[in-house]
Amino acid sequence: MRILKWTTIGTVALLILLEAILFSRAGFFDPGFTQGFDQGKTDWVYASAIEEPAAPGEPEQPFEPEEPVIPEAEPTDPEEPEAEPPQSPETPTVTPNDPTTPVRKVLSVEEATAQGILLLVNKQNPIVPDYKPDDLSPVKYYAENRTAASRYLRSEAADQFHRIVEAARDEGYTLVMTTAYRSYGFQQILWNNYVAAEGAEAAARYSAKPGESEHQTGLAVDVTSPTVEYQLTSSFGETPEGIWLAENAPRFGFIIRYPQGKEHITGYLYEPWHLRYVGEAVATEISSNGLTLEEYLERKQ
Ligand SMILES: [Zn+2]
Repeated sequence: MRILKWTTIGTVALLILLEAILFSRAGFFDPGFTQGFDQGKTDWVYASAIEEPAAPGEPEQPFEPEEPVIPEAEPTDPEEPEAEPPQSPETPTVTPNDPTTPVRKVLSVEEATAQGILLLVNKQNPIVPDYKPDDLSPVKYYAENRTAASRYLRSEAADQFHRIVEAARDEGYTLVMTTAYRSYGFQQILWNNYVAAEGAEAAARYSAKPGESEHQTGLAVDVTSPTVEYQLTSSFGETPEGIWLAENAPRFGFIIRYPQGKEHITGYLYEPWHLRYVGEAVATEISSNGLTLEEYLERKQ
């Protein structure tokens, strides 16, 4: 019995020794062995390897989860200034396939001329710098201390403007213009000044970028009166002159171009002082239906 007992103990000890030798040869304590065995441990092993700073001259770790995501997002960013084609004042270009804004169609001199008095110029329909009406005519009734270069309207519009001022005068109201025709270059100076003062976003709500101003058509005129000290202010719309003007402008072929509540269509805040000549028939239809020029032209298409 005693011999058997010691033999058994000896055998067990021998087996333990053999197992220890075999496992150490198979690499039991080698991290490589644990890869298929304990995934958490494996991750930790790799994580430590990634977090370890690379030695100078060594290539960076080949896999970084964020890396491929960032370069993919960049080309689709519509705000990226590099995505826009280069622009120069002499040759404004259409921005094609820009998802953030409607397609802009820059009107050529020929196209603008062909549209005549229904010429549409706004933020989506800019006009080439070269466009200048060939029938500009001096306006007689204007506020002093404003640039003389803008005291012009297209011939027919000037005549009708004189009639509206005279009709107002006959009823006891004094109306004068501040600015009418503005060249592309003049609008450029105005725009730059507004942007310098308030930033481009604020400026865009009340001022036009060069090429987007209706004043370049020679069909728009800003009107004011002594009751608002010859200023261009929205309160003009509540003065007796402003009320008379809104009621009577259409029969002389003018509309209040930027009415209240239509900023989403015209792109501009309410401007009771900004008249646009479109001819009597169109002006009457626009005003009696509460439309804007954009809405009227869309209906006619
Ligand atoms: Zn104006």
